[in-house]
Amino acid sequence: MFQLTLRRRGISEQAVLRTMEEIPREAFVEERDRADAYRDSALGIACGQTISQPFVVAYMTEQLKLHKSHRVLEIGTGSGYQAAVLSRLAGHVLTIERFRTLADRARERLEKLGCYNVEVMFGDGFDVPAGAGQFDRIIVTAAMEAVPEKLLERLEPGGILIAPVGPQHGTQTLIRFTKTADGIDRKDLVDVRFVPAIPGVAREL
Ligand code: SAH
Repeated sequence: MFQLTLRRRGISEQAVLRTMEEIPREAFVEERDRADAYRDSALGIACGQTISQPFVVAYMTEQLKLHKSHRVLEIGTGSGYQAAVLSRLAGHVLTIERFRTLADRARERLEKLGCYNVEVMFGDGFDVPAGAGQFDRIIVTAAMEAVPEKLLERLEPGGILIAPVGPQHGTQTLIRFTKTADGIDRKDLVDVRFVPAIPGVAREL
């Protein structure tokens, strides 16, 4: 049923569909939502944040055109679900979360599931440490009013960045940026709704 819904909505990449089938979303939702884990909707998690809708996770993943050799950066770990999906299709995933509680819980879940190529970092996605290096792919899973130039600079040549861009409390457009020899190529994809990306780490737990 889960795969069928994703197919119907236009996800066609076999590796993405297979991965969506393999990662148990129920392990990433709150206890009370276990029964709804495979419905195609976003759900609330701790710290007032959300786990994205499965279709959006699959769609963003497909648009990233991942390869086993890729180093991927995710901004907005949340539950860790998107990171788990990425980990199966990429070489290494660094995911950054501004709530310590969410980062700690996601790290624990990902370890339990054997996603050993994911590093969960408590920090600010607007201020990625220089030591983290460059990335083949960057996925932002929180709404940004604009994508900082600094972040686009972290892309390797040929790299792809996907982010929901638009007003923080409304509808955003998912935008795919590709770094080409001539500069940055930009393509508007679909409308989405994400919780806002907020600069700085959260002071509350
Ligand atoms: N990808 C997640 C869902 C993300 S919800 C999943 O699969 O469950 C968006 C997340 O982005 C929230 O957890 C929020 O705390 C985080 N976030 C917002 N601003 C951030 C920032 N500046 N740096 C890191 N994380 C941020």
